[in-house]
Amino acid sequence: MPTNDDRRCFSHIRALMAGTREGMIAVAPDHTVRVLNEPAAEMLGLERTECVGAPSSVLGVPEFVPALKSAAAEWELVSSTFERAGHSYSFTVAPYTEDGGGTGTVITVRDDTELLAVRRRSEAILLSTSDGMLVFDAEDRLTFVNPAAEKILGRGAETLVGLKTDTWEVFGIAPDPAGPVREAGTQVREVRMEEPEHRIVDVRVDPVYDDRESYVGSVATIRDVTSEREAMQMKNEFVSTVSHELRTPLTSIKGYIDLILDGEAGEINEIQQEFLSIVKENSDRLVELINDMLDISRIESGRIVLKVQPLDVGERVAGAVNTFKAVTDQQGRTIHVDVPDDLPKAAGDPDRIGQVLINFVSNAIKYSPEGGDVHIKASVDDGCVKVAISDEGIGISPENQARLFTKFYRVDSSLTREIGGTGLGLSICKSIIELLGGQVGVDSEEGEGSTFWFTLPFASDRHVRTPSLEGPLGSPGGRVLVVDDCEDVANLIATYLSHRGYEVVKAYNAKEAWEYAVEFEPRVITLDVMVEEGAGFRLLEELKADPRTKDIPVVVLSIICDEAKSARSGATDYLEKPIDKARLMDMIDTLVGSISSPLVLVTDDDRNIVDLLTRTLKQRGYAVMGAYNGKEAMAAVARRRPDAILLDLRMPVMDGYEVLQALKNDPETADIPVVIMSAFQPDRERENVLELASDLVGKPFDVEDFISHIESVIVREESVEGPPPESGTS
Ligand code: ADP
Repeated sequence: MPTNDDRRCFSHIRALMAGTREGMIAVAPDHTVRVLNEPAAEMLGLERTECVGAPSSVLGVPEFVPALKSAAAEWELVSSTFERAGHSYSFTVAPYTEDGGGTGTVITVRDDTELLAVRRRSEAILLSTSDGMLVFDAEDRLTFVNPAAEKILGRGAETLVGLKTDTWEVFGIAPDPAGPVREAGTQVREVRMEEPEHRIVDVRVDPVYDDRESYVGSVATIRDVTSEREAMQMKNEFVSTVSHELRTPLTSIKGYIDLILDGEAGEINEIQQEFLSIVKENSDRLVELINDMLDISRIESGRIVLKVQPLDVGERVAGAVNTFKAVTDQQGRTIHVDVPDDLPKAAGDPDRIGQVLINFVSNAIKYSPEGGDVHIKASVDDGCVKVAISDEGIGISPENQARLFTKFYRVDSSLTREIGGTGLGLSICKSIIELLGGQVGVDSEEGEGSTFWFTLPFASDRHVRTPSLEGPLGSPGGRVLVVDDCEDVANLIATYLSHRGYEVVKAYNAKEAWEYAVEFEPRVITLDVMVEEGAGFRLLEELKADPRTKDIPVVVLSIICDEAKSARSGATDYLEKPIDKARLMDMIDTLVGSISSPLVLVTDDDRNIVDLLTRTLKQRGYAVMGAYNGKEAMAAVARRRPDAILLDLRMPVMDGYEVLQALKNDPETADIPVVIMSAFQPDRERENVLELASDLVGKPFDVEDFISHIESVIVREESVEGPPPESGTS
């Protein structure tokens, strides 16, 4: 019901009518037209002077009649539409009270013709595009699905519209671990769908903002790339097989030429020596080419394995310089090295970084005249380690710079033709560096030399990529052994895990499980203890008794709720069936992560905060446990010792102060760093307790800032002498 204020407001209609582009008409309580503004007269094709004072029927819009009646009678806003002279209009009728008594109405009319045309056009585009399109509203609910998407998903729009984005699983697509697109921004993924048939689908989800920058929803584009990927895979397999096959004969060719050149087959004359040297040079080039092709096919098929570890850039640079010592000495060049002593360690694969350096230095030598010096300079740049290799050579034009890093691209000049090469080196370097989380680039001017550079994240950034973000990169998440005698359940868990980037081995009975645990060395085992009527517990005890398998964390899944017995038998974690997928994935991520990454316990009674911090920390490569109150936090700590604890102060059941005191009183847990998150100032008595904490951040906090707090306490701990992350309770 309207208030008196509303009524008064409606009496100011005259003022409101001036200056608006919408058509406005006031109809008095006696049903005569009181006011009609210029846009209204134009839309309805009327003369203002003729209308004012006339009965409202003069407006000539029959659709107004019921709307005016019900607006005045019910005292409410009534909206509807009408068509006139090829235009589409929408209108709203609002009631008002006249000063002298009686209820009048104000009609607001808008010409929607253009808007509708635009909408029809965009709908037609969405309907006819061959890419699948899904439109979600601000609540992440699906509002529109085009026919292409229906086809790819194998489901009709009627079964999809209304679903929330976090139900992506219904499409066989795992929700993005980075979180909803609203927070995480554009997401690009490649997913494998098994229903209704095997498909590889590229998914891209973009947030949509209106012109006032407020979030109005998201749009997902999905594209079936199954055949493209299969063709690519076949090509990669072909290249890989051929390259391997070529290598074998080349090994003999190279080996025997070397023997002959070394004089092992008797004296050779100068001409023979010269000819054989040419053969040797060319077979070396062939080997190099084959190695490059193998690298490319590994990178493209995601089979490249990178061993990321803290890396001393200076050491790698020295190694590369040494490789070229003979050549540079002979050509009268010097390689100048400038690596500061205090350069932080970078995160990278030492062998691959060596390969990148050798490639850049070799190019610097190849593409500059004899006697030209080379400079290698390492520095800290924008939170990364940057390495730049400069030469005094031929340089590269801007057009060529833009294309250098693509496969097989070589600058076409008589010089490069003479020098020879495959054009693969830089493309391989770029892929390697980008897989390691860095960037490559070149600064150059023709005739003025070139500087090729690359960056790598700091080792302390723990630049670990979350498995499911890796898409086609294979299964860096590691291997999980799923033990369940029900094939359907095993398949279900396996699907969850493989979507998340894990490699899965399934065992359907205790004997198989035992063999696979030894043979495949999984990083985690999920075990239905009811496998073969209870043989599961025995298997668990056996696994825990054997030195080869005792350190593998085991998650017990069961319909019989016997957490205590599981723990006694050596289970690391326990989950009841039917399985809560999110919890299982969390457990496994945490267990896998805890082997190499620091484990953080996040405690807050606000589930959204726990969720946000969990996602953020996981993205940075931390393993995370969550607790919603102090008691849960203490239980989590007893299960597995975390490397740091984030603690909210105000919580139900057991608050943060009590947790902090309990942790500090127990010598086992006293040295775990605790970061307090608090929105308020504690009183004096409690301030003393807070001194036990390692750090304190005020709420609301900036996530970036917050992460740096956590990193600093963990790094501090580590440098004192970090406790090795425990794996499991065995
Ligand atoms: P390759 O050296 O086998 O041709 P790369 O991928 O290493 O392949 O390099 C691609 C091309 O980039 C080279 O063919 C050359 O034209 C150009 N290039 C690379 N490094 C330099 C450099 N230091 N100076 C000038 N041109 C370069």
